[in-house]
Amino acid sequence: MRWAKPKTMDAEQVRCMLGDEGHVWIGWMDRLSPAVRERLRNASFNICPACLIMKVGRKHSDADYFRCIEAWEEEERNSIVEDK
Ligand SMILES: [Zn+2]
Repeated sequence: MRWAKPKTMDAEQVRCMLGDEGHVWIGWMDRLSPAVRERLRNASFNICPACLIMKVGRKHSDADYFRCIEAWEEEERNSIVEDK
């Protein structure tokens, strides 16, 4: 997956395919279960909940979201290595 170039400085704080700022995606948090929200808080980088839901789909099990978060964390780690 390719991440969009952030549109603003604020948007750089979260990995978002659309490059949107926090106020755009924060409402999507409500659509995730408390366990998934907790997992996002503990992720190795900020993941946009809107992108997570769009990628996995709505009304999926927490395990599906966890798998997607882990895949993105792995991707992020790999991209950091490639940049250097
Ligand atoms: Zn997003």
